Amino acid sequence: MIVVMKEGATADQVNQVIAVIESCGLSPHVSQGAEKTIVGIIGSKDRVLELPIEGLPGVEKVVPVSKPFKLASRAFHPQDTLIQIGGHVVGGAQPTIIAGPCSVESKDQILDVARHVKALGAHMLRGGAFKPRTSPYSFQGLGEEGLKYLALAREDTGLPVVTEIMEVGVLSMMDNYVDVFQIGARNMQNYPLLRAVGHTQKPVLLKRGLSATIEEWLMAAEYVLAEGNPNVILCERGIRTFETYTRNTLDLNAIPVVQHLSHLPVLVDPSHGVGHWRYILPMARAGIAAGAQGLIVEVHPHPERALSDGEQSLTYENFAQLVHNVEQITQVLITVDEALVAGKH
Ligand code: PEP
Ligand code: MN
Repeated sequence: MIVVMKEGATADQVNQVIAVIESCGLSPHVSQGAEKTIVGIIGSKDRVLELPIEGLPGVEKVVPVSKPFKLASRAFHPQDTLIQIGGHVVGGAQPTIIAGPCSVESKDQILDVARHVKALGAHMLRGGAFKPRTSPYSFQGLGEEGLKYLALAREDTGLPVVTEIMEVGVLSMMDNYVDVFQIGARNMQNYPLLRAVGHTQKPVLLKRGLSATIEEWLMAAEYVLAEGNPNVILCERGIRTFETYTRNTLDLNAIPVVQHLSHLPVLVDPSHGVGHWRYILPMARAGIAAGAQGLIVEVHPHPERALSDGEQSLTYENFAQLVHNVEQITQVLITVDEALVAGKH
């Protein structure tokens, strides 16, 4: 259920609503909009419905939210969520570009990639130090050593670091090195892990599970939000279908659907979505054209020698082309949207 406060409701009036919710043992979540404050109430339906809130001073209306996700819903937070990471805002007008290798392989490799992708226009550096490999015999990542190299690359380039966390036990160690916790597709429904990153205030890049519906994905985001961390970035990375020519099927349907249902920013990962470097540029273009708020892509100095996901890694040259195209498409979208608003077509 959400409580919509009247425009101009005072802080005291909002606090009174919060006090009633808390006195009944339920948790309030406040969303401060430009014009109105909204207070979300999480708890069992019966108890929420009994709350004596309607009629309190400053309350405009009380709206039941029938969707299973509440804090992730547009009803709770009508404006797009913006997440400031370093000097860049995720979810704003400029698409976010996160680039880097699938795995951190050595100090030289990650420094080289970081310098190149930064020069070519990336806003953040990706690179896995703990890798969720399908086979236990594949390269599993450098662990904390890899995180140290990522931190060096951040120091060198100023790029914030995005890297995957696979288990709760390493969270406080990783916290020292990481700017954004990536929750991988395989862990999208690892609820203790979602709760643990929800206890931090660090941005979380939540990948869609291999076979997850949009609702399951938003419910996973809800876990993080419900623990008090509002900084969730969704990432569509392809789902499993019957098709075998591509690694996954990049579900671009999800972009407008998620943006209708939720205020959270959503990025596209065409690398895992298609699994082959040749198809990444067109799907990156399509993702941006569909309205995604950015991309995360794998880039490697020598894709043929990569220790993981080389077949889907872009060379620097291909990455440069992708960034250039993203800028061009963004420009077109701005022009088209302005014409729509102005009533032209
Ligand atoms: C990755 O980003 O390298 C990765 C393993 O992604 P996903 O969890 O989407 O498979
Ligand atoms: Mn990968």
